Amino acid sequence: MSSKSFSRRGFLQSGAAAGLLWGSHLTGCAQLPIGKVRSSKARNIIFLVADGMNTGTWTIADYYMQHQNQQRSEWVKLYQEEAVTRALMETCSANSRVTDSAAAASAWSSGQRIKNGAINVTPDGTHLMPICDLVKTIGRSTGLVTTTRVTHATPAAFASIVKSRGEEDSIALQYLERGVDVILGGGSKHFDGAGRKDKVDLSGRYQAAGYTVVESRDQLLEGIEGVPRRLLGTFWPSHLPYSIDRNRDAEIASQVPTLGEMMRTALGILEQNRAGFLLQVEGGRVDHAGHGNDVGAIVHDQIAFDECIAIARAYTQENPDTLVIVTTDHGCGGCQLNGVGAAYVNTDKTFFAGIDAIGASYEHLQRVRESLSTDQFGVLVGECLQVNIDDEKHQQLAVAAKAGGYSVANLLRKWHGSFARTGVNWTSQNHTGEFVELCAWGPGSESIRRWIRNTDLHSVMTEALALK
Ligand SMILES: [Zn+2]
Repeated sequence: MSSKSFSRRGFLQSGAAAGLLWGSHLTGCAQLPIGKVRSSKARNIIFLVADGMNTGTWTIADYYMQHQNQQRSEWVKLYQEEAVTRALMETCSANSRVTDSAAAASAWSSGQRIKNGAINVTPDGTHLMPICDLVKTIGRSTGLVTTTRVTHATPAAFASIVKSRGEEDSIALQYLERGVDVILGGGSKHFDGAGRKDKVDLSGRYQAAGYTVVESRDQLLEGIEGVPRRLLGTFWPSHLPYSIDRNRDAEIASQVPTLGEMMRTALGILEQNRAGFLLQVEGGRVDHAGHGNDVGAIVHDQIAFDECIAIARAYTQENPDTLVIVTTDHGCGGCQLNGVGAAYVNTDKTFFAGIDAIGASYEHLQRVRESLSTDQFGVLVGECLQVNIDDEKHQQLAVAAKAGGYSVANLLRKWHGSFARTGVNWTSQNHTGEFVELCAWGPGSESIRRWIRNTDLHSVMTEALALK
């Protein structure tokens, strides 16, 4: 480890002591303005993705942070200080103005537009090298951190090649074969013999290959002696629970780390490689909350993502030879705060009181319904959404539960009605085609033009690392 490095446990504790930050140095930002770097080339890249983030999503999270803590979001602070390169990014895929996450992250990773649903495979079947493989060729380490299954489309596009994003068992195996050094998130079912189609105990194979394997937050933060060389951590069978549910449920909180905790852990491991690293960190469930039109879930997951910007910022104070890119792959759901009342004067009160009153995601309520009595569930929904579940609604929920999927969550969403209660409304439950926000700092950020295509980020990264 470098002399500047903390011990793994030490930096986690110092981060916790400082609140939410990488270390206790954030107040020193003004002494070393972002963008003042000692080298024209980057040793490290930190790539932060709020998946499926409409500009409206970012806006309501920022407003809610002001309401909660009288603080603006870290992302807004970067713009206020004019400390970063800012751009708009077009997000199209090869076959649609509206991309999916597989094609979008493949564009960053490989530099080419491909069709929705594929990961680093062109329509004629050509395999494109993912950016993590390229980074490995120059001796640098790689890490993937997300709140979704770690085998989900965005992290997968950084380090795998599959015709269809659904091939998640294969993606889990490819991470091992390609030697991704740190893998943290959800999706344990693709590593357990019981969950995989081929019944292979992939976690065991990772261990045999020298990985430390953890399965809970307690193990991640307290159960590892020293700093591992390689780490696999999966904390939930599928996607991690939403932040709003983690924040209000001690059992989930002891099982599942925050995105920021996973990012700090990843940085502490990756920085052992003096040659450098590429770390992708995804707030992946912002997208899912957009699909689910779930305003409580989307606000709190966007805020959890915002913490990672502060961690990256604090990290780059000590390591200015790090390129940081902060962006999203596409919008989702068309999330927007709309004016409420005559001349919109009821907007603020409605929005803040409405978000304050939400106690759980629709998904969480659907998940726990099966383990509760009808009365208990009715009370819980009353507390969390202020919706009265009468006999007729209970019957509709029972029918919906038989239909499966998100039917129960969809009914709860309809009855909750985010527009009336919060002013936040949606254009659809689909991805959207808007140009999206991007900012960057560190070596190579100055080359980013004000309006770019998603594919342009590939050369930004490879040139910053002197790969091309
Ligand atoms: Zn999506």
